[in-house]
Amino acid sequence: NYILAIESSCDETSASVIANGKVLNNIIATQSVHEKYGGVVPELASRAHQENIVPVVQEALDSASISKSELSAIAFTRGPGLMGALLVGVSFAKAMAQALDIPLIEVNHMQAHVLAHFIEDPKPTFPFLCLTVSGGHTQLVKVNSALDMQVIGETRDDAVGEAFDKTAKLLGLPYPGGPLIDKYAKEGNPKAFDFPVTRMPNLDFSFSGIKTAVLYFLKEQLQGNPDFIQENLYDLCASIQYTLIEMLRIKLVQAAKETGIRQIAIAGGVSANSGLRKTLELEAKKRNWELFIPKFEYCTDNAAMIAMAAYFKYLEGEFSSLEVTPLAKMKI
Ligand code: ATP
Ligand code: MG
Ligand code: FE
Repeated sequence: NYILAIESSCDETSASVIANGKVLNNIIATQSVHEKYGGVVPELASRAHQENIVPVVQEALDSASISKSELSAIAFTRGPGLMGALLVGVSFAKAMAQALDIPLIEVNHMQAHVLAHFIEDPKPTFPFLCLTVSGGHTQLVKVNSALDMQVIGETRDDAVGEAFDKTAKLLGLPYPGGPLIDKYAKEGNPKAFDFPVTRMPNLDFSFSGIKTAVLYFLKEQLQGNPDFIQENLYDLCASIQYTLIEMLRIKLVQAAKETGIRQIAIAGGVSANSGLRKTLELEAKKRNWELFIPKFEYCTDNAAMIAMAAYFKYLEGEFSSLEVTPLAKMKI
């Protein structure tokens, strides 16, 4: 069977075809219009999805060398995400499923980030723990099976990706700043500046404090030296990144201890961070974890992960009605 999957939750328009559980392609149109605004502008995202969706879907079908009539189902991201952006994918998927008279499969974007681990070997076995770190979420997920997941910890305020992007903005870096902090951190000293590691009760996170701490620290330093940021950019990036990773590492270790699970996975855009990858690789060696890190292209938003999640639902016969509507907020 062939399933076509569509992702449009934020600023990536993406389509993918999966054949009997094997992902054939992953076509992604990234929207660059948002860069000059320093963040994603919902109306512009929605319009760009409308422009991109037909060519992106066509390219996925062409690269799979199949025609529409060979599809067994259409899958789409129902949420969470930006309402106007989701609407484009949902409407397109509904229309296509209705026209072809084939089943429609809704996918939860955060479940899909976790299931990106099943696109390629090595694949984790159940149960495993997944630390999902993205632009909008920070979650510790106990994955009992492909369609049975439990959030055992999450952020009380900002997502860690947001913390990367907002502190990067304070340093004068363009959006999205996460990848730039990663790049400059490699040249800097992580112990140069001391930012507070916020400790929440149980397995929850909080990332809003570091933003404020960096803001006040920079204000004070810039009074004495207007070139403080330029002169210390690498050390600032390294120190901020180190602090954010520490907060993630501490909770992941605690979750592994509490659940007794030693298969550990990371997912979401921030799992592309090289410092996080290195830190968790060391931790895995020390604690005898089996660590799973997805390929870069499956970390950030992509339709291949939506296709993978849809395949699991297809096997269970979990289909959606044509009345389905998007959900900006949607629980796992
Ligand atoms: P969600 O999945 O929660 O709806 P999203 O889809 O916007 O949010 P992703 O596309 O998965 O999130 O990830 C984007 C985030 O990942 C951005 O905050 C970006 O800065 C961050 N990011 C990407 N690469 C890196 C990196 N190398 N280091 C740190 N952060 C990174
Ligand atoms: Mg994105
Ligand atoms: Fe995402």
